[in-house]
Amino acid sequence: MTQNIAIIRGDGIGPEIMAEAIAVLDKISAKFGHTFNYTEAPMGGEAIDKYDDPLPQSSLDTCLASDSVLLSAVGGPKWDSVPKEKRPERGLLRLRAGMELYANIRPATLFDELRDASPLKPSIVDKGIDFVVVRELIGGAYFGEHKTMTRGGEDYAQDIMGYSEHEIERITHVAFKTAQKRRKIVCSVDKANVLDSSKLWRRVVTKVAESYPDVILSHMYVDNCAMQLVRNPAQFDVIVTENLFGDILSDEASMITGSIGMIPSSSLGEGTCGLYEPIHGSAPDIAGTNAANPIGMILSAAMMLRDSFDMPNEADAIESAVDAVLKKGFRTGDTMSEGKTRLGCHEIGVAICEKI
Ligand code: NAD
Repeated sequence: MTQNIAIIRGDGIGPEIMAEAIAVLDKISAKFGHTFNYTEAPMGGEAIDKYDDPLPQSSLDTCLASDSVLLSAVGGPKWDSVPKEKRPERGLLRLRAGMELYANIRPATLFDELRDASPLKPSIVDKGIDFVVVRELIGGAYFGEHKTMTRGGEDYAQDIMGYSEHEIERITHVAFKTAQKRRKIVCSVDKANVLDSSKLWRRVVTKVAESYPDVILSHMYVDNCAMQLVRNPAQFDVIVTENLFGDILSDEASMITGSIGMIPSSSLGEGTCGLYEPIHGSAPDIAGTNAANPIGMILSAAMMLRDSFDMPNEADAIESAVDAVLKKGFRTGDTMSEGKTRLGCHEIGVAICEKI
């Protein structure tokens, strides 16, 4: 099978971890007889430097014409002072909107081998952590009107958080379909005791749930959810929530599994083309030192194979290789603990390729 993949190497540790993901994909293509064609699509800081635009039209066109997009991470202090419209994150928001990627899916799974890396007590960790956060990605406060004005003689700023029924319906279907392939439990997270957008959210989610009688639905306020994630994460199977709540909760969810460097994510729209990226940023503090953990990036490639290219065996091969490397005790600095062997980003990539 031939698949065309747009590659966004990104900034900071981005190029280092992407090199390892591509090496893994090359290994998979050789083993399973596929052809993966890669086309570079500069975005973020790299694109600002080259084109004075965080997402040049040519990069968006490349992504839209591809079977899927693989992204590392963008941004860094070098571009912190550029005007708002030109910041690296703007490129990412425009890409998500341009590809109409409304569903962000982030698994929060604790690898058995990394139990000691979780900051939670063993009595909590021992119950297991294995859930998925389904976050609405192109609505809410991120995409509402942003305004700064003068009011009563001082600066005043506001951001509008709005949702239409249609936007809530489509993300809810993604959550229920995800749950049907798992333990069949959906927890919808909102702030319906205060926000109108959350009241509508709850009403629409409840209505959509009628089409999935095999799935159990519960509702939870976002503040309670933030607390429950550290008190008893084992209760969750699929969490569905709006953009801003999802941004915060999914970072919390990743931390309780040990390291931000381990977690992949996908962003999907109506078709099979998706955007796959690790959940962390460009880690400028360790860029260029071969210290980054490439596993979140490599597992994002595995997610792409399974979810966009319908290659479950190939995805399994990558995930098993990652497991085997962790079992051998190989770690990058972020997941290092006593008695384990510390390796660099590239060496972990090589070890995973060897296992494949
Ligand atoms: P970050 O995720 O880059 O880093 C937070 C901490 O985690 C740092 O100490 C970093 O060294 C560590 N870390 C992150 N990924 C790691 C990995 N793979 N291996 C080992 N350690 C890792 O978050 P930040 O410092 O808040 O942001 C840095 C830059 O990244 C900013 O410019 C921010 O805007 C950008 N960012 C981009 C994305 C994205 O492209 N999707 C997401 C978040 C942040």
